[in-house]
Amino acid sequence: MSNTEHGLENAENIRPHNFITQIIDEDLARGKHKEVYTRFPPEPNGYLHIGHAKSICLNFGIAKDYNGLCNLRFDDTNPLKEDVEYVDSIKEDVEWLGFKWAGEVHYASDYFDALYNYAIELIKKGLAYVDELSPEEMREYRGTLTEVGKNSPYRDRSVEENLALFEKMKNGEFAEGKASLRAKIDMASPFMVMRDPVLYRIKFAKHHQTGDKWCIYPMYDFTHCISDAIERITHSLCTLEFQDNRRLYDWVLDNISIERPLPHQYEFSRLNLEGTLTSKRKLLKLLEDGIVDGWNDPRMPTISGLRRRGYTPASIREFCRRIGVTKQDNVVEYSALEACIRDDLNQNACRAMAVIDPVKVVIENFEGEEMLIAPNHPNRPELGERQLPFSKEIYIDRADFREEANKQYKRLVLGKEVRLRNAYVIKAERVEKDANGEITTVFCTYDPDTLGKNPADGRKVKGVIHWVSAVHNHPAEFRLYDKLFTVANPGAEEDICSVVNPNSLVLKHGFVEQSLGNAEAEKGYQFEREGYFCADSKDSHSEHLVFNLTVSLKESF
Ligand code: ATP
Ligand code: MG
Repeated sequence: MSNTEHGLENAENIRPHNFITQIIDEDLARGKHKEVYTRFPPEPNGYLHIGHAKSICLNFGIAKDYNGLCNLRFDDTNPLKEDVEYVDSIKEDVEWLGFKWAGEVHYASDYFDALYNYAIELIKKGLAYVDELSPEEMREYRGTLTEVGKNSPYRDRSVEENLALFEKMKNGEFAEGKASLRAKIDMASPFMVMRDPVLYRIKFAKHHQTGDKWCIYPMYDFTHCISDAIERITHSLCTLEFQDNRRLYDWVLDNISIERPLPHQYEFSRLNLEGTLTSKRKLLKLLEDGIVDGWNDPRMPTISGLRRRGYTPASIREFCRRIGVTKQDNVVEYSALEACIRDDLNQNACRAMAVIDPVKVVIENFEGEEMLIAPNHPNRPELGERQLPFSKEIYIDRADFREEANKQYKRLVLGKEVRLRNAYVIKAERVEKDANGEITTVFCTYDPDTLGKNPADGRKVKGVIHWVSAVHNHPAEFRLYDKLFTVANPGAEEDICSVVNPNSLVLKHGFVEQSLGNAEAEKGYQFEREGYFCADSKDSHSEHLVFNLTVSLKESF
């Protein structure tokens, strides 16, 4: 993947080609549709995750590429699991990803009256009936993949009786589970979804949009197709597990008097990301079990977690572009996601110095202080430069010094020289240790004639290490994140707690250079030789800087 100059932005301007754009191109060419109208239909029962990003980029991306429109519609037919907190977070995530929905936000619950009337229409046509089988009986009657179902004894009620009973359902005269409205299709259909699917169920629950108005709620399959048709959606894109449901989608629309042309459903494969969960329900479990500190914990594969971790909207859109859209089920390697943010930050993040595991260095022949200047980016002068105070005492990383080492070790070794990044060449002269034998201070000398140039006598100094002034700096907490799970497919685990990586978060305390005192939350930096980091949006403030590791500098194996 080329990533020169404006890499990510450039790639985004190329319109993707996949089986869905091919269908759209044909539909437009044939005049089946004049414009393209899509929708993104989340259920507000959790925060959005990276899998949803794929669907968002597809739906909003198509609208953008074809000068069409894309609605944001909350699929809110299950009041028990839904909440306005989720509605708000979903809106925020879609906007943050860089997309704009057409007009106002829509809710399936906006259509509850219309849906109710379409249900009446089906009853009047003899295509729906009120069933009084218990949920268990209904399951028994449904049959299996190898065995046809049986008709309910209530299936042949008259239209009048069904209308009266449905009215009773609506008025709260049945208890939950005592009655439901079912489509009258075919109990012997090879497609289970066509075996008289339930259209309405009773739930005495307050709804976040409609309050106590309803005690009957429409099912997904009945709601979705009608919502699409009401909104004049042309291409209704969903994941492959809804393939069979397309028959019901078409059956409902074919049998009600709703404006034509009708929307059509197309299925694509869902995103599965190695080592992560892409199910709101399972992610909620991680919260409930206290494994993570919230939906936006930086280890979560949620959009808000990735954002807090330091991912940019462009990097997530680029990831979705790279994985493409097909009908093949597969698992994407986690490194593919990391490569996108690394490419973005390598190009766009300012460089800075941070010492994560500090050891003190005293430069014995340096007196006073000096203000050095360092570029913010090695090959983008337009990103400016910063001041870097240099002093007699500095910190370097403990791993960057050894008393003895072979030639492979290109850092500071006793009796040898190394370059301090953006500063001078220093030589380690002696060390001081504590009672445990741990090095507390490295005493060095510096060569004053090496700022921005090699030693005059031609001495070769190979290594470069980073540092932070011990006088002018900010103490900082570093949160080093690793994979949340120890297995590739945590979703398949019976007991998710047993596969949580105990080292998914390691805390370190060190120092960052002075210029980072007011680092903006979520803004990415490359801490030289350490990795890409950003200030934490929740816990970082001027008294207590907290930096999250976004991604390592290079892919680790
Ligand atoms: P979850 O199990 O996480 O709740 P869902 O499919 O039930 O997922 P919805 O809120 O109903 O979640 O999803 C909204 C849209 O996002 C749907 O069109 C759905 O197909 C799509 N979507 C959900 N998960 C993925 C995924 N992993 N990859 C691609 N698209 C997805
Ligand atoms: Mg769902």
